[in-house]
Amino acid sequence: MTPNTLTEAPRVSFTDLPVSEQVRKAVTDQGWETPTPIQALALPALLSGEDVVGLAQTGSGKTAAFAIPLIEAIDPKARSIQALVLVPTRELATQAAAELTNLSHYEPVRPVVLCGGVSIGPQIKALKNRSASSAMVVVGTPGRILDHLQRGTLRLGSVRYLVLDEADRMLDMGFAPDVGRILSHTPDGRQTALFSATMPGAIRGMVKRHMRSPRWLAVESEAPTVDTVEQVYYLVHGRDKTRALRSLIDAEKEPLAIVFRRTKHGATKLHRQLERDGYKAGLLHGGKSQSQRNKTLAAFVGGRTRILVATNVASRGLDIPNVSHVINYDLPEDVETYVHRIGRTARAGKDGVAATLIGESEKGEFDKIKRALPVEVRESRLPISA
Ligand code: AMP
Repeated sequence: MTPNTLTEAPRVSFTDLPVSEQVRKAVTDQGWETPTPIQALALPALLSGEDVVGLAQTGSGKTAAFAIPLIEAIDPKARSIQALVLVPTRELATQAAAELTNLSHYEPVRPVVLCGGVSIGPQIKALKNRSASSAMVVVGTPGRILDHLQRGTLRLGSVRYLVLDEADRMLDMGFAPDVGRILSHTPDGRQTALFSATMPGAIRGMVKRHMRSPRWLAVESEAPTVDTVEQVYYLVHGRDKTRALRSLIDAEKEPLAIVFRRTKHGATKLHRQLERDGYKAGLLHGGKSQSQRNKTLAAFVGGRTRILVATNVASRGLDIPNVSHVINYDLPEDVETYVHRIGRTARAGKDGVAATLIGESEKGEFDKIKRALPVEVRESRLPISA
């Protein structure tokens, strides 16, 4: 990234780090034994008050890498908002808030999630409802945060710890102007952590504008997840894709599969077809309300539905344990999307299969993706003739 980017993770244990007994206990409760590479790099820097730019993917443990120093940085007794975590999607906000809650089990920290797509009234109420015994931390998406700032229901003048998570994704979603405006409401002297899966020029510009001589850190891209993903593809006739999908699913005993489609319409259609064929399937796309999404995810995480048909909304950030298969029903737009999608399986060292269904017209496009990947994607045959 820059000539002095640190990529070699030092060997540290959680006990070597200057964290409180309470946080250490919460980490132990999570069953975590050693810091992940991004944590080993970022925790010491963030805990010592430095700004950090981290090139890290979802699944790398980056949430805890910023959440632990956040908990350490704030004063549990102060009633003003001292920390802000900006994320691109509601799912990520929910996950970051959950991780903060887990890690602050023995510390009085209370995350408030501020995302669009749900009514603003309860959020305003939650913001007003400060307690002297717990520190409020805001986690949210830029649009809604800005909305609160403009309404005067949120003040960020006391923020001392700010996180920009999946910054590249926020830029892709057109949030750059909102992020800039939000940052102008926070004090210059704050500590800032930025995490991103890629480092396009626009992110470097953001870093230059908003951060103080940060430390640049990077971990081997996706190594922990993608190594344990078996990647295969199947050549199918366009119209046979649904049949191919069914034969893949039927060949497994108890699959937990995320099936990706490019568009909401495509996802809806496929979901309807699968239900008609007797499969219990969930549907996740950007047009669903937050409560619908939560319900769908809960049913899938609980194994009540074994297939989740999703658009790219679900390809980033979702951390669902035990996903056995990621199936690209439609070809991902680019290598990055491919890597993000397949990173939804083989989480935390488990095995997983990423299968891509290639229609005749998609061969050329898929070849490009294949060539850009560091590992081989094998051609395979469908279990039952489809
Ligand atoms: P993230 O990249 O933040 O989405 O984290 C991916 C997953 O790794 C989450 O389920 C975390 O709970 C888990 N995790 C984070 N840190 C550790 C650790 N040090 N050891 C084991 N698992 C971890």
